[in-house]
Amino acid sequence: MYDEFVALLRKACSKRKLRLRKIGTVHNKRDYHLYKIVINSRKNPKASVCFSAGIHGEEIAGPYAALRFIEKFDFRKFKNIKIIILPIANPYGFDRTMRETTKGLQSNGHFCNKRLNGEHKILYNAIKDERLLFFHALHEDSDEHRFYIYNFENGEEKIYNDILAVARKYFPLEMHKRIYGSKAEHGLIINEHDSSFEDRMYRDGVPYSMCTETPGIAPLEKRIRAYVEIMGLVLGFAAKVGKK
Ligand SMILES: [Zn+2]
Repeated sequence: MYDEFVALLRKACSKRKLRLRKIGTVHNKRDYHLYKIVINSRKNPKASVCFSAGIHGEEIAGPYAALRFIEKFDFRKFKNIKIIILPIANPYGFDRTMRETTKGLQSNGHFCNKRLNGEHKILYNAIKDERLLFFHALHEDSDEHRFYIYNFENGEEKIYNDILAVARKYFPLEMHKRIYGSKAEHGLIINEHDSSFEDRMYRDGVPYSMCTETPGIAPLEKRIRAYVEIMGLVLGFAAKVGKK
């Protein structure tokens, strides 16, 4: 699955004249490379945004949405925004349709460790100096038919509700007051410090950071389309609030 995906990614990048940069390699029985794609790379962007997909290897809509975005999205509309994509954050897990990394770690919970290793270190190092405005991790909840978000904010931020409004065109929202034991408000789990990639980015000073959860029970094509639309919304937001 991994090799086929990387071949598609390579083809899409070459069509759009983008460089598929290798950012590191992990090993378990064989080598797996991690990649980064930078779109609209220029010296003084109005804002920088990072989309990270597939840290949980079995949540495949994120990587496929990243691929679709590269194939089809009209990113010339956002010339001032530096777009960084980590399309396959856990290649070993993706290849085996499972959560764990090559080190057997439950992959999204170790980004706030004092010392990072393996995939976590490669991913973090790939974006730590980017002065991001927005970090977006594309996840899925395999057992769900509803959509929800883990978001980080200082005060109430409208953008997260705008994202829920887009998601609602595709799926019902998870409106329970508790989601997996965490307090939730209308589909948002706010400032849950769970040592995830999005938590780490927020702690590092990225003002907008979130993990979105598309429902794994919904058809894959629908999840991909929802994600590409949400990525566009995030970029529109960055274009509006980025520095003048
Ligand atoms: Zn996940």
